[in-house]
Amino acid sequence: MNNKYALVTGGSRGIGRAISVQLASQGYCVLINYKSNEEEAQKTLEIITANGGTAELLPFDVADGAAVEKILSEWQASHEDEYIAVLVNNAGIRKDNLMFWMADEEWNSVLDTSLNGTFYTTRALVKYMMNKKFGRIINIVSISGVTGMAGQTNYSAAKAGVIGLTKALALESIKKRVTVNAVAPGFIETDMTKDLNQDELKKLVPAGRFGKAEEVAELVGFLASEKASYITGQVINISGGL
Ligand code: NDP
Repeated sequence: MNNKYALVTGGSRGIGRAISVQLASQGYCVLINYKSNEEEAQKTLEIITANGGTAELLPFDVADGAAVEKILSEWQASHEDEYIAVLVNNAGIRKDNLMFWMADEEWNSVLDTSLNGTFYTTRALVKYMMNKKFGRIINIVSISGVTGMAGQTNYSAAKAGVIGLTKALALESIKKRVTVNAVAPGFIETDMTKDLNQDELKKLVPAGRFGKAEEVAELVGFLASEKASYITGQVINISGGL
């Protein structure tokens, strides 16, 4: 079987689910990664199959470098003639606190998930993309990593780190037709933002509303396509003008 594969980390919920559904509609067999919420991951899978697409669950903790290496090398060994052509590094967590109260665990877990997680999955897959001379790496960052956000020194640092990784890796890989871009959402309606006061915060957004996960997914779908082959090393904000 000759499938085109895409891996979406954190594909069980929110933005990752919408991206998984989008990439499946573009003909990719989507590997839906998640950490622990199998029930929600299963729902993503069901939406994709109900739409006539294909997908598989591939749970692992992106922050666990050894687990990432083991699972992705086992996947590759059992798919000798195929490779993962699209990688969306979407898994992320928020643990907001002011710097002077921030615990080591709040700092480390946010950096381990977003920054180290992006490093582990990307290192495991970019060599196959370069070897096959086609690949798309799309890193979901945040406006918080572009401008900084009070109460989010950990999250802003993690996302800014991923932006640096994106720009440097883009220079390493473009000759092999592998593009690397970052997408920086503003406020998007998902579980991650459900504790925020949307009525107050939307006043800060020029568009006057929170964005939808599907709007982010459309952009990621374009960056994953052949049409986006001349875009690399960029950070594209999707924030209603924020
Ligand atoms: P959600 O909290 O809705 O979903 C988070 C997803 O990440 C879940 O699928 C979760 O899996 C997965 N995940 C978390 N930690 C790990 C881990 N260690 N290993 C594997 N998977 C993990 O988040 P959103 O959809 O809102 O956010 C998605 C991305 O977009 C994040 O990187 C976030 O920082 C970014 N973003 C979000 C914004 C927003 O307003 N929502 C704004 C800007 C950026 P499980 O279900 O198993 O827990």
